[in-house]
Amino acid sequence: MALQLTVDGERWRAHLRRLAEGLPGLVPVAKGNGYGFGLGRLARKAQWLCDQGLGAEALAVGTYEELPEVADRYAGDLLVLTPWRSFADPGTLAAKHTHRVVHTVGRLDDLDHLLDVHPGARLVLERLTSMRRHGLSADDLRTAIRRVSEHPHARLEGVAAHLPINQGAHLAEVERVLEEAGPGISQVWVSHLTGDELTALSAAHPELRVRPRIGTDLWLGDRGALAVTSTVLDVHPVAKGEAFGYRGRSAVKDGYLVVVSGGTAHGIGLESPMSGSGLRDRAATVARGGLDAVGRVRSPFWVGGEQRLFAEPPHMQASMLFLPAGTAVPAVGDTVDARVRYTATTFDRVELT
Ligand SMILES: *Cc1c(COP(=O)(O)O)cnc(C)c1O
Repeated sequence: MALQLTVDGERWRAHLRRLAEGLPGLVPVAKGNGYGFGLGRLARKAQWLCDQGLGAEALAVGTYEELPEVADRYAGDLLVLTPWRSFADPGTLAAKHTHRVVHTVGRLDDLDHLLDVHPGARLVLERLTSMRRHGLSADDLRTAIRRVSEHPHARLEGVAAHLPINQGAHLAEVERVLEEAGPGISQVWVSHLTGDELTALSAAHPELRVRPRIGTDLWLGDRGALAVTSTVLDVHPVAKGEAFGYRGRSAVKDGYLVVVSGGTAHGIGLESPMSGSGLRDRAATVARGGLDAVGRVRSPFWVGGEQRLFAEPPHMQASMLFLPAGTAVPAVGDTVDARVRYTATTFDRVELT
């Protein structure tokens, strides 16, 4: 009775290996919902890549709170992508793991504070990029490098640049950061460079260790290895005009209500406009393909080869779909396909074959 992610293990692992082989220095990213797989599973897979000599000598997590979930399943360095702050909380991370943590620092104040509380900290200095999310200015980067190099115990692990997805000028931006950082920088941690850009960067700086941080293209790069299914929990015929659902709405035509597993608790339907159905919400949803031509809301569930409409807004753990009369109706216990955003979906089960 589950919203399930089924992974063709052999095909998935082949993709992970192939990608890692082509990207020396790969740093897998495991954050959030673990891209649908879960953080623990990704940590074990990163270890598996590392054991084969396929990079993954560091694993990146998003937050300090995520560290305890990966630390016992993966033995290499642990880079935290969210810049350190005085209120950063490594949760229940055991003391034996702290030497593996590599902090990201994006403000001078934080640098001073971090080195006060953890004088031997390993850290990466993040440069503010065209993303404009976190990071130091050029001047502050130079200052930070000087402060770290003058510090008796701090360990500088390089500079980092987090770049927008799908833009052309990445290489120039990384080159500029390297120039600002000056000589003596041994590593650069980058996000969202293409394979060609990474190759060019390494070729231009043979002494530099390039560390591409990759999540989506690694874990979700071969969608053919993944299948999402939901279970049919119930089927009820309805006649035009008959009431159903939480709000007692009535069927606009004869058909079937099909109740499938997967609701808001799984992340299903959260992009739909149904809680606030102002015109702007509706327009935005139409733009994303969420409504059909007459404004009914499409679900992510596919039955009989067609994307089906929600009969009403998804419930917490199940969704009611409407199938018009004359459609082949699935039986209770059948599975139906679902197309979901992996990074926003919590699956009941992940089945790795
Ligand atoms: C999430 C994240 C990544 C990984 O992004 P993908 O698009 O999933 O590859 C890389 N770098 C940083 C700083 C991130 O926050």
